[in-house]
Amino acid sequence: MSKGNAFAQVNERVAQAGEYLNLPKGLVQAISSCEREVVISIPLHHSDDIEVLTGYRVQHSSARGPRKGGIRFHQDVDLDEVRALASLMTWKTALIDVPFGGAKGGVTVDPSRLTSLQKEEIIRRWTRTLIHVLGPNRDIPAPDMGTDAQTMAWLMDEFHRLDGFQPACVTGKPVSLFGAPGREEATGRGVAQITAATLKENDVKVKGATVAIQGFGNVGRYAALVCQELGMNVIALSDVTGGIYDKKGIDIASIFNVKDLSEVVSDNRIGSSELLEIQADVLIPAALGGVINSNNMSKIKAEFIIEGANQPITTEADNELRKQGAVIVPDILANSGGVMGSYFEWTQNIQQFSWPIEKFRKELDERMEVAFVNVHKTAKKYKVDLRTAAFIVSVGRVSNAFTQRGSLL
Ligand code: GLU
Repeated sequence: MSKGNAFAQVNERVAQAGEYLNLPKGLVQAISSCEREVVISIPLHHSDDIEVLTGYRVQHSSARGPRKGGIRFHQDVDLDEVRALASLMTWKTALIDVPFGGAKGGVTVDPSRLTSLQKEEIIRRWTRTLIHVLGPNRDIPAPDMGTDAQTMAWLMDEFHRLDGFQPACVTGKPVSLFGAPGREEATGRGVAQITAATLKENDVKVKGATVAIQGFGNVGRYAALVCQELGMNVIALSDVTGGIYDKKGIDIASIFNVKDLSEVVSDNRIGSSELLEIQADVLIPAALGGVINSNNMSKIKAEFIIEGANQPITTEADNELRKQGAVIVPDILANSGGVMGSYFEWTQNIQQFSWPIEKFRKELDERMEVAFVNVHKTAKKYKVDLRTAAFIVSVGRVSNAFTQRGSLL
């Protein structure tokens, strides 16, 4: 993503949807703006000195319910990126029709250089400083890049110390600590289900369809596994350590538990950007934003691009790829299984009741299917691409809620 431009790119989509829906400009501006932005400093103790990190929580919208969204630990995190990601959560939760608004948090730090104790120190400080704007009915964090179930367990514990026991204050927790069986795999599972549905919709056989996946973190890993379970042939994978390519297909189950792909023995190693350009039916960017851009857009060969990551394609590249005939399934649909799973975890926590994983998976698959069908129907009705259609659905829902609440008065 070109620096400083991510939030503007999302808002262009919102404005475009507003035009299709004939919404007044002021209303579009109101629902595009972030409700609240908090920037904090986080002192991190080293043996000889203190390093001050910057942390964020951007609450984009509460029109449809408490704000919801992950916390990212990454060296490139900045306010513009957090705003963009927070707003994407608003559109994502509206699209899949769960009773949440949108938010996102972050800390500008390279998580690979942190010890476990330092991560704990950072997330506890983040939670303490932001406690007044968080809570099960205000704003519910979750994992994102660089954070995981353990990070959410520390967050829950800090919350408990400050404000009493409320496991619904955060989602993506360990299953042994009020997490929901199925949440960890939910984003990747959703990506794979949407991939299969997209192939079927376009009369392409799911069985044997070739898939390349950039990213082997939580999203990429489960997407790869479930794509394979659904009969697809995953031929290329990559992460920050590089990638592997095997025309005959990679056995995902056998490498699923490696720490990273450098551990996998392969005769055919490829680079992470090379992976984007290989010949495959499906490309799933499931790592960083902005990886498909004006530098490589003419070299992308996949016919179907499923956005496992948030904002992996710049607006310019999106227009160009669609001109070349690619079918692009937007992030707010493709990776919405994660927050859908968070919704299930939150409801279970509130009810102090737990679902078996089979029920979780069934609900997830069914509700993702509803969102998929709705986006396709809208695309046909307005004669637009899938991203535009997805934003028309979300912007319509958020603007209705905003108006009905009387915020305009
Ligand atoms: N971080 C994930 C996302 O970008 C999940 C957020 C959540 O579950 O609240 O959708």
